[in-house]
Amino acid sequence: MNHALNLEEVSKVYGRDDNEVRALDRTSLQVAQDEIVALVGPSGSGKTTLCTISGGILSPTEGRVIVGGEDITGFSRKQLTEFRRRKVGFVFQTVSLVPFLTARENLLVVGELGPTGTSRAELRKRADQLLEELGLAERASNLPSQLSGGQQQRVAIGRALMNRPELVLFDEPTSALDSKIGDRVVRLIRDEMKARGTSAVIVTHDERITRYADRTVRIEDGRVVSAAPKRALATAG
Ligand code: ADP
Ligand code: MG
Repeated sequence: MNHALNLEEVSKVYGRDDNEVRALDRTSLQVAQDEIVALVGPSGSGKTTLCTISGGILSPTEGRVIVGGEDITGFSRKQLTEFRRRKVGFVFQTVSLVPFLTARENLLVVGELGPTGTSRAELRKRADQLLEELGLAERASNLPSQLSGGQQQRVAIGRALMNRPELVLFDEPTSALDSKIGDRVVRLIRDEMKARGTSAVIVTHDERITRYADRTVRIEDGRVVSAAPKRALATAG
């Protein structure tokens, strides 16, 4: 079976000589298609590094990275850029919306980088539907500076889902979830994933998210230390 994500004995070393930091240490992780994995672990254990390598932002020092059956380990920068647009969505801890574009335009701009042949009207419909589901319908025309931190992060979630990626990587999307809207957003993420067979890795400490995940994986000192077996989700509605 093709995994959505297959990290094989991946190491990542930052810096060199005396400044060397081994952020990932021959760590392996497989995520099935359609699976939502919560990734937990102490600060500095390598969670962000694992996400950036899985999404083709950074290359590993050693090991292999296979996403949706595609071995991206030896990809050039250009190939990686193209790969990211096609296959992955990111939601980072620090939101990086385009400041001079409205919420809707922030979604549309990635839509335009996505699969060709999608009409402007279809993109607009998709963007508005996501904004609606994220509780942002009234905010579609606002600039990021006119939105709260949590609202900005929800726009970033919409942006990551816009192109229907195969794998979505969430790096501590907590502030989007610290309000009442939180449960709704988590459910949207889960519904989007399950409806389309999309996989996700969600770095989080948030109990609400681990509850919605199929599996929780723990990382310590750059190594996956426990990967509880996949369990059936108990009544997620
Ligand atoms: P986490 O997300 O779990 O907090 P990170 O993946 O950010 O962990 O970091 C893992 C380790 O790698 C830490 O010791 C961190 O200081 C180090 N690290 C992360 N990024 C860099 C970098 N760009 N240069 C040097 N060291 C880094
Ligand atoms: Mg981190």
